Amino acid sequence: MSLIISDECINCDVCEPECPNGAISQGDEIYVIDPTQCTECVGHYDTPQCIEVCPVDCISKDPAHVEDNVQLLKKYEKLTSGKD
Ligand code: SF4
Ligand code: SF4
Repeated sequence: MSLIISDECINCDVCEPECPNGAISQGDEIYVIDPTQCTECVGHYDTPQCIEVCPVDCISKDPAHVEDNVQLLKKYEKLTSGKD
C-alpha cells in the first residue's frame, strides 16, 4: 500500500529528502507521493520515514493503493534493480 498526503500538509519539505525512493515531490498545492514509487519504505527501513518526520501527521495509508508486504518488496526490487 502506498501512502498519501492529506490537505493538512503545510509544505514544510521535511519529508521529501527522507524518502529513499524519491517518491515525494511538491505538487500544485501540497506535497504528493507517487504510488508507483512508494514502498512504505519496505526494503529500506522498518517504518515509513515520511510519517516519522512529518510534523503535522498528515500522511496515512492510501486505501486506493492496497499492497501487501510481498508486493511492496517486489516493487522495491524493481525500483532498485540496476542500482548498487
Ligand atoms: S513511506 Fe517511505 S517510500 Fe513511501 S513516500 Fe514515505 S518515505 Fe517514501
Ligand atoms: S513533512 Fe508533512 S507537512 Fe511537511 S511537506 Fe511532508 S507531508 Fe507536508
